[in-house]
Amino acid sequence: SDHALSYPPSPEQFDWDAHYPAFAGSGKTPEFADIGCGFGGLLIALAPLFPDTLMLGMEIRVQVSQYVHDRIVALRSTSAPADPSPDTPGPYQNVSIARANSMKFMPNYFPKHSLSALFFLFPDPHFKARKHKARIISPTLLAEYAYILKPGGIVYTITDVRDLHDWMRTHLEQFPLFEPVSEQELRDEGKGPIVDAVYTSTEEGKKVERNKGDKWLACFRRIEAKRD
Ligand code: SAM
Repeated sequence: SDHALSYPPSPEQFDWDAHYPAFAGSGKTPEFADIGCGFGGLLIALAPLFPDTLMLGMEIRVQVSQYVHDRIVALRSTSAPADPSPDTPGPYQNVSIARANSMKFMPNYFPKHSLSALFFLFPDPHFKARKHKARIISPTLLAEYAYILKPGGIVYTITDVRDLHDWMRTHLEQFPLFEPVSEQELRDEGKGPIVDAVYTSTEEGKKVERNKGDKWLACFRRIEAKRD
């Protein structure tokens, strides 16, 4: 349950400096958000590849988010520069985690058009029809995701559940502010390392691999709208 969680009233009032002390005063907010990040494998894989890009994981489970927090603290302390600054931030200073129910108040965290990548990796499938409203992709939530994504930003989804893949793909296809983008197009744009991490870096993705399950990828670009 999430009744004890507190949320920032607005992104401006969120203490980003506490999450990214090496970037304090830079005015930066996260550009990558990993929704339902679990144990944080994606963030840990991407952080060194994009050292100047702030990344935030959102995770609702207390112990899991605490684990990711501790993992990041430990990684940061390895070979940290004596005097971290936005120019020499040191490893993993660009990655952090918030314990939050991402189905609520996403725009309270992320400013309008601030994200260049939004990840939904192996989300909970909620198989039963009466549970579909608990799915992390829905028309209402897509409107929020479109709001916080920059035009040109990418939504990455992957799952081993074919029915959930069809659900996410169909809803994204039907939403006017998203257009499908193929894996090859993303690779041609230099986003290959991101796609590779989406497939293989997370704990759930590794589990699917061990069980020789299928992985269904669907990616979408947030298009430019005339009235944005
Ligand atoms: N993305 C990770 C991976 O690929 O290993 C974790 C996948 S796991 C199946 C789904 C995760 O989403 C769980 O850790 C769960 O606690 C989290 N989650 C589910 N609903 C959520 C919500 N509304 N807000 C934040 N996290 C959520």
